Amino acid sequence: MALLQRIAIVGVGLIGASMARAAREYGAAQSVALYDLSPGVRDRARALGLGEVFDEIGAAVADADLVVFATPVGAMGAAMQAAAPWLKPGAIVTDVGSVKQAVVAAIGPHLPPGVVFVPGHPLAGTEHSGPDAGFAQLFQNRWFIATPIGDSRAEQDASQKLAAFWQTLGARTETMTPERHDVVLAVVSHLPHLIAFNIVAMAEDLETVTESEVVKYSASGFRDFTRIAASDPTMWRDVFLNNRDAVLEVLGRFSEDLSALQRAIRWGEGDKLYDLFDRARRMRREVIDAGQDTAAPNFGRDQER
Ligand code: NAP
Repeated sequence: MALLQRIAIVGVGLIGASMARAAREYGAAQSVALYDLSPGVRDRARALGLGEVFDEIGAAVADADLVVFATPVGAMGAAMQAAAPWLKPGAIVTDVGSVKQAVVAAIGPHLPPGVVFVPGHPLAGTEHSGPDAGFAQLFQNRWFIATPIGDSRAEQDASQKLAAFWQTLGARTETMTPERHDVVLAVVSHLPHLIAFNIVAMAEDLETVTESEVVKYSASGFRDFTRIAASDPTMWRDVFLNNRDAVLEVLGRFSEDLSALQRAIRWGEGDKLYDLFDRARRMRREVIDAGQDTAAPNFGRDQER
């Protein structure tokens, strides 16, 4: 017996398609209804057999107990507005957006009475996007962070149901405020992506090194940045536009620390450099101990190329 009768997923990209596959594979939902704005994506979702695909958002969400918005962050408000008249009373609305305060502001005003909204974010992904990139195991052993906005009885019940849903998909669940989420994610995800985008774009621009040399010797470290920088541009544009304050704050701190590093290199302060690199190496150990990555050399890649 599945956990939920029917879920609807709006936006069938990497995350939406992975949820559709996982929900059915692990028995989190009896049936999965899907809608995407793009007719090409809907066709692909049908061909991949991801669920019951609808050409209208209303038909997709009408009977759902749980409606998940898995569009880019900037599209959530419009998608929710279009879905709102069709939501059934008692339905739970959630999202998977990488930013939380902006999504709360975008979705909240369109909530009809009797429908509860529990924002959330699965900390799982790859650099690929679109329905073909989805796979059922994406959320295994990854965190799902719920950021509830109220503590009424209905909201508490909905949060519990949502946590049970994500646990069925294989995730570990945690709760925090939307504000806290946005700062934490600025540190662990948004800033690292910004740095990767910047390094890769800078290498392309550098006139002293030809592009072919950058690619040829990329296994020296650069290629790991290129993997992160290959992530979907629309999604990341929306993340930075919608988590502006937290990202700018963390970026300010990063720039100061980078200047300190620059000074240490200029003045030959080896101890300072050593201490910082040593601290960073210990952090890597903690990430592995927390089960967030493999301890295998070279991230477990079979061979150096
Ligand atoms: P994706 O692969 O690009 O898929 C998003 C899909 O939503 C696209 O098919 C897009 O269609 C569709 N869409 C756009 N506007 C829509 C609308 N108004 N109504 C219905 N569908 C719409 O993106 P993703 O990587 O799955 O990311 C989806 C969400 O998950 C984002 O909010 C992101 O922040 C969050 N997230 C992503 C990751 C990750 O690593 N990728 C991890 C955790 C959370 P078009 O292509 O035609 O625009």
